[in-house]
Amino acid sequence: MTTTHWHDRAAALEIDGRALINGERVHARSEARFDCISPIDGRKLAEVARCDLADVDAAVGAARAAFEDRRWAGKAPAERKRVLVRFADLMLEHRDELALLETLDMGKPIRYSRSVDVQLAQNCVRWYGEAIDKLYDQMAPAPEDSLALITREPVGVVAAITPWNYPMLMAAWKIGPALAAGNSLILKPSEKAPLTALRLAELALEAGVPPGVFSVLPGYGEEAGRALGLHMDVDCIAFTGSTRTGKGIVQMAGQSNLKRAWTELGGKSANIVCADCPDLDAAVTAAVGSIYFNQGESCNAPSRLFVEASIKDAFLEKALALVPNFAPGDPLIEDTVMGAIVDAVQMKTVLGYIASGQEEGARLLAGGTQTRAESGGLYIAPTLFDGVDPGMRIAREEIFGPVLSVLSFTELDEAVRQANATPYGLAAAVWTSNMSKAIRAARSLRAGTVHVNQYDNDDITVPFGGYKQSGNGRDKSLHAFDKYTELKTTWIGL
Ligand code: NAD
Repeated sequence: MTTTHWHDRAAALEIDGRALINGERVHARSEARFDCISPIDGRKLAEVARCDLADVDAAVGAARAAFEDRRWAGKAPAERKRVLVRFADLMLEHRDELALLETLDMGKPIRYSRSVDVQLAQNCVRWYGEAIDKLYDQMAPAPEDSLALITREPVGVVAAITPWNYPMLMAAWKIGPALAAGNSLILKPSEKAPLTALRLAELALEAGVPPGVFSVLPGYGEEAGRALGLHMDVDCIAFTGSTRTGKGIVQMAGQSNLKRAWTELGGKSANIVCADCPDLDAAVTAAVGSIYFNQGESCNAPSRLFVEASIKDAFLEKALALVPNFAPGDPLIEDTVMGAIVDAVQMKTVLGYIASGQEEGARLLAGGTQTRAESGGLYIAPTLFDGVDPGMRIAREEIFGPVLSVLSFTELDEAVRQANATPYGLAAAVWTSNMSKAIRAARSLRAGTVHVNQYDNDDITVPFGGYKQSGNGRDKSLHAFDKYTELKTTWIGL
């Protein structure tokens, strides 16, 4: 990693907050804009276009025209690959700039914006680009007098609505497969962190994605987001965000043109550590590291920790020794591992959950307070509650902040039952040396991803998504193409 002084680079950054529609940077049709404030220090970073229905109509019109004249969909897969690989290369060339924008915009440490967010986002775009000229269609076992083909076609105009916690990566999970498959794409990033999406669209243009094929409309959910959800000429909406908004997205699809609605939603993931866990230190490191990574603002964060009663004291002693390592620091210093909370609303929510944990009788063993207030930014100390009861709000609801709730169990079956007793089903983990126990638990856990004896191994090759109210469909892996393609059957009489 470089030792560049990131504060100097931040001060020198020129940020263009205009939308990108049909290949051009433009103000919202209404000229409205909103302030983009950094949670690091409260500084205003830019004025950003506040797009609404008029801008959505313009972007959808451009996307539809691009799809119909096949300027992108009609290109050979190998040509789309070439452009997307170039796009990924450009993301790497602009790695520092993208990382800086991400850190300033949503508060995560620069070391992770650079090494995790830019790295994984460019890899995602590259992976789908590389994949698209290696996929074959199918021929059915038809009678001799006919030929039956099963082919995949792009769905058409795709709208993606994304959250603020991994703004670039969540966008890349949509951009990669949607563009590789030949769709036109309109991305509405979160109003809390819109900056990297706008740069990505510029880099895509530079790489050779034709104008109109990929537009970015910053704006509020109730305005630009809702206009996309209800639009009669959007064929598919790919949403990542809260369960509450996701339910609204599915309703909007039903109220309008029954566009395909895919949702990647919230979570309250359970991490179950048995007394026969093969490596207690590894389990502690993963439990603590995974809940505090990204300030706890991860959909799959293991926010409910179930520890077998006989090892709980030893586990907690080791965990509490690690917690101070996650004390928030200046996100623009490369040693910092925990940054700022995205905005004042989210900070109030997290502090509200901490207060509810105390009121409901959980034992606060670490953190629980705002820190670094003198910076002008928004920081919360890594927080750990023991003695959490399954009925408490901190055990049931998604907090989306650096708060770990520790529960204990004596029977694995009971822990699995508790783990499943949630409307969510995004991820889960079980730690045990007994493989039959591990596999039985993994089969019983109702979650899109189950980890055994680790938490964070994950890459683009495997699907990611939720059971139950954590959503439908899957991002990542070749399965993501199911979202962005239609299956067509062609019967040919011979
Ligand atoms: P959010 O639901 O508040 O907002 C997400 C997006 O939806 C934003 O772009 C927002 O502007 C837009 N939006 C809000 N209201 C809308 C409306 N009425 N119509 C259309 N669009 C609307 O979520 P958030 O706070 O940005 O993100 C945090 C949530 O995202 C957490 O619940 C987290 O678990 C979830 N998440 C899930 C995954 C996953 O892959 N399952 C990944 C990351 C985040």
